[in-house]
Amino acid sequence: MKNLFEIKKLNMHYPIVDGLMGNVKGYIYALNNIDLEIKENEILGLVGESGSGKSTLGNCILKLLEPTSGEVIFENENILSKKKKELNDFRKKAQLIFQNPYMSLNPRMKIYDILKEPFIINKIKNYDKKIKEIIKLIGMDEEVLSRYPHEFSGGQRQRIAIARAIILNPEFIVADEPVSALDVSIQAQIINLLIDLKNHLNLTMLFISHDLSVIKYICDRVAVMYLGEIVEITSKEEFFKNHKHPYSQALLNAVPVINENKSKKIILEGDLPSPSNPPKGCKFHTRCPYAMEKCSTQIPELKEIGNNHKVRCFLCD
Ligand code: SF4
Repeated sequence: MKNLFEIKKLNMHYPIVDGLMGNVKGYIYALNNIDLEIKENEILGLVGESGSGKSTLGNCILKLLEPTSGEVIFENENILSKKKKELNDFRKKAQLIFQNPYMSLNPRMKIYDILKEPFIINKIKNYDKKIKEIIKLIGMDEEVLSRYPHEFSGGQRQRIAIARAIILNPEFIVADEPVSALDVSIQAQIINLLIDLKNHLNLTMLFISHDLSVIKYICDRVAVMYLGEIVEITSKEEFFKNHKHPYSQALLNAVPVINENKSKKIILEGDLPSPSNPPKGCKFHTRCPYAMEKCSTQIPELKEIGNNHKVRCFLCD
């Protein structure tokens, strides 16, 4: 499969500014040297605890945040070097679905106007037919177009937010925890809708979630993030049967029903260290039961171990 995105050495370091003088007293190291490919027509799952940098990565890929350094190559061009005006085309092709459907729809606008907005912003005429088509595609009736967001349940609002994201026929979607704010009973419906749309519209998706059972259901590949770094990336099948990184093992141990690997149980203890003062060496060494002496001084690289499986851990050297 061809790559749709190539992310190279991506860093996002937020300055911590001190008082009125505005002196920079440190940095929050949210993303560190991220190298990642997103393949055409795949759903790549991005997992990790909250604070691991997943949403920051999604926002940097879409250039909704300005990374400190690195490249995001899309259709042979580095999106990060483009000016705002030059991004119009990219914005149509790459969209974001937010976590919270209660916040992402303007309560003062009717659904028709919410869906019309992307056309107006992009100066596209003749949107009426498309709006009616898209509302059917997400499983709702045309009569909802004259209503306001508060008249709908969370699941229905998320359907409308998805409709808005796909209405200009994007190629790529970042879905940032799109079901975590919804009732469990509704989650499966929205996930099935996303799978149908992905197949119907040939979408590529970065699916951000902390829920491994959702990742297992929807994704083709899985990338695991810890403190702003990718620590493991492989196919879904390989990940659930043959994960190698102790952090992946700990995440899976927290969901015993889907842990297919019979390796030693790791219970994740303590909180994620602060990204403003990350541990030296392997960032996971303060919580890793296998940590060796060199883990606190040397940084492991993300290395291919065969079978399109990359791991950042000295145990795999
Ligand atoms: Fe644990 Fe060392 Fe591997 Fe890091 S490099 S995950 S500390 S064994």
